[in-house]
Amino acid sequence: MAEKTQADLLREQLCRRQQHACEVLTAEEIKEADEFCEGYKQYLDLCKTERACANWTIARAEKLGFEEFQAGKKYEAGAKIYLNQRGKSVILAVLGKRSLEDGLRMAAAHIDSPRLDLKQNPLYEDKGLALFKTHYYGGIRKYQWVTMPLALHGVVAKKDGTIVEICIGEEDGDPRFCITDLLPHLASEQSERKLKEGIKGEELNIVVGSRPLMLDGKAEGFKLAILKHLHDSYGMVEEDFISAEFQAVPAHKACDIGFDRALIGAYGHDDRVCSYPCTEAIFALEDPDYTAVTVLADKEEIGSVGNTGLDSNFLCDFLHDLALAQGANPRTMLRNAKCLSADVDAGFDPTWPSVMDPLNSAYMSQGLVLTKYTGSRGKSGASDANAEFLGWLRRVLDDANILWQAGLLGKVDEGGGGTLAMFLAKLNLEVVDLGVPLLSMHAPFELAAKTDIAMMFWACDAFFKAE
Ligand code: MN
Ligand code: MN
Repeated sequence: MAEKTQADLLREQLCRRQQHACEVLTAEEIKEADEFCEGYKQYLDLCKTERACANWTIARAEKLGFEEFQAGKKYEAGAKIYLNQRGKSVILAVLGKRSLEDGLRMAAAHIDSPRLDLKQNPLYEDKGLALFKTHYYGGIRKYQWVTMPLALHGVVAKKDGTIVEICIGEEDGDPRFCITDLLPHLASEQSERKLKEGIKGEELNIVVGSRPLMLDGKAEGFKLAILKHLHDSYGMVEEDFISAEFQAVPAHKACDIGFDRALIGAYGHDDRVCSYPCTEAIFALEDPDYTAVTVLADKEEIGSVGNTGLDSNFLCDFLHDLALAQGANPRTMLRNAKCLSADVDAGFDPTWPSVMDPLNSAYMSQGLVLTKYTGSRGKSGASDANAEFLGWLRRVLDDANILWQAGLLGKVDEGGGGTLAMFLAKLNLEVVDLGVPLLSMHAPFELAAKTDIAMMFWACDAFFKAE
């Protein structure tokens, strides 16, 4: 081999070298990553809504010995507790040996994803079809949601207090639902529209039936037929829609993508690709030094609003109650706490390079994406993590052989977005975004790399245990 030049040596010493997971992981570790992702694919298929995700998490937590948190109760080191925030958000915690005033290790991800919600009065009939009106939830590109099988997830709260849960379209043999689009033969006018108006909000109407109710040989209406079906199946009447939450989500299941199966295609990677690793990492944690917390939050996609989003006080209240019962000052605990805002970022897409700064982008299968700040137009709306905390986190990740990369959400002024980080920062703890790069983020079918997903689990584990 040729001798290294002085420039080679300097490059080795001074330049950051970004590697592919296949260069740093052993064959055994890649196999381990692939196996971790088999569990993740099941989770994706079972947890398409925040409610489903919260239910799955709590059921699993209880099996693993987590008990429901009681404010005022003093917990021993090693205790495992959870908080159920109105069935839509969950907090999991494992008490550490050290005083809470030494700080926490907290990982926060969100469990809501972009989708289509039914309007309050959704059901109507028109020209031989029964349809549902929708209002989209989160940042979607509307044209992506047509001509695709949809599943419906609903919770109906009746006047008498009974709650009916409905899920149609997830099981083999279930019917599905669908939004139509024009045929190309007649779409010349629609094709002249700007892409963002290719399908408009009021055109996201879901076909739910096409046979009228037949009574005494007479057709009595398509809407009535659906109402009769809902009444027979769930005891529902039309007004029950007003105190219901129905979500239409893609009906497809998660699957491997590519000859090499290195990617997973699925609905809802944002942000289950982080919520699953953060959940599995705290489930695997025994007797940590620092108290570890995993937060699974609702409503991130619409600004963390509402009493199940992180702009609500519920997380702060839980942390204060926890600290006070252990005799710790909650403000001291939070000032010393370290937090990962575990969320996805854009992966570099070679088909769409013009929106990205290649020097500050995350690449698929090259590890977790560390995002110092999000926001838009001069970092507006960003949390902008402190350099000192990033320095600490680099050491933790490198010591655990975690592959990571620095990535920002596109070019300056190209667009922007936010995460949970700014809401977590309000608690006066150290926080930065760390997550998995995605292709086609917010589409009904997003792509993530298996090694990156496993890396998130390993990173979370190292973070919970870090000094
Ligand atoms: Mn997200
Ligand atoms: Mn998102």
